[in-house]
Amino acid sequence: MPQAPAPEEMNVYQNAEVRFEVAAQKLGLEQGLYRYLKYPSKEVTLYIPVGLDNGQLEIFVGYRVLHSTVRGPGKGGIRFAPDVTLDEVRALATWMTWKCAVVNIPFGGAKGGVICDPRKMSRGELERLTRRYTAELSEWLGPERDVPAPDVGTSEQTMAWVMDTYAMHVRQATTAVVTGKPIELGGSAGRREATGRGVMICCDKALEKLRMKRDGCRVAIQGFGNVGSMAAKLMQEAGYKIVGLADISGGLYNEKGFEVGKAIDWVYNQKKSLTDYPGGGTKMSARDVLFQPCDIAIPAAIENQITEQNAKNVQARVLCEGANGPTTWQADAIIESKGIFTVPDILGNAGGVTVSYFEWVQDRQGFFWREQEVNERLYDVMTHTFDQVVRYAETHKVNNRIAAYMLAIDRVASALKLRGIYA
Ligand code: GLU
Repeated sequence: MPQAPAPEEMNVYQNAEVRFEVAAQKLGLEQGLYRYLKYPSKEVTLYIPVGLDNGQLEIFVGYRVLHSTVRGPGKGGIRFAPDVTLDEVRALATWMTWKCAVVNIPFGGAKGGVICDPRKMSRGELERLTRRYTAELSEWLGPERDVPAPDVGTSEQTMAWVMDTYAMHVRQATTAVVTGKPIELGGSAGRREATGRGVMICCDKALEKLRMKRDGCRVAIQGFGNVGSMAAKLMQEAGYKIVGLADISGGLYNEKGFEVGKAIDWVYNQKKSLTDYPGGGTKMSARDVLFQPCDIAIPAAIENQITEQNAKNVQARVLCEGANGPTTWQADAIIESKGIFTVPDILGNAGGVTVSYFEWVQDRQGFFWREQEVNERLYDVMTHTFDQVVRYAETHKVNNRIAAYMLAIDRVASALKLRGIYA
């Protein structure tokens, strides 16, 4: 039996903190700024009453953490999952600050979460939960305050309810209060695909850097939600060979490659679990998909998947992080010693928030762009950021993750210095 990893390795807030500390030290960040940026600016815990379909009243615990508004309004998703903790939401909010700074969009960082199991709740229950959560936060949210988006367990529909509830409270249409909305309600063309597309752009750039070919390049993806399924689809269309797929039910590996469109239909239209997909493949745990023979491994599910214990098993040449925090800080050193080229989460999955920014801009302008225009702008942001991070890493002799943190922290710190601290 493999030993369970040490619990402290699994504390995502610590994971975010350690990387911040290393980067801040290398930047020589002064003590005051260091303290300011290390802690969130606000946190709220909500006890959310929801009438269940069976007539009972349940109280759900939820959070919203605003880490920073130094570079603009808070930005970050709302997660519905049974294992949400305040520490996790804090870490995710902090990562949003660095993510928005690394791609240089004018937002701070925030995140929300509610402890619940959306798969066991009815549509009505989810709607009532979302509306009450939003109503409780109505003073905190706003296009210039804090702008939520989807994350694990929430969807375009959830965002439509957030938008509607907020609009009812402020008594005016306010589409820019939330991003990742349905297109009919002020959502952006290309937002649904954006995180997956960003992952693909980073993989393309990594291959170019390593002088590897895209055609037939073997990719294993853990996670089949918005990020994983879209990355798989777009990458297959572009010539990659998707050899590993996984969702919450488990993983599948097939060296001949999957027909991703059919797998998406199986899971999303036929509502079946991925591991029962008849398209072939060896069954395994969702996590093991990342350790199969492949050229690129893409963790696109949740945190703490690649740890000190299993990092040695990664066979890929490129690790492109579609999820937030999938690699623990203890695993970083092992991944680096194996010479694996890493695209860190705050770069790898930044395509989503980048198109969220485009959505916010379009909503505020009341003028909408064609999908091609959105995709081109996304491409520009991602390729430019990728080049900057890699160049920074080479110049400062740090790994890509620390380089991304350094670039981001430096941007937030200079904005903070310019603003000054109102104390
Ligand atoms: N939840 C996504 C993330 O972690 C999207 C955030 C956003 O678009 O605001 O990046």
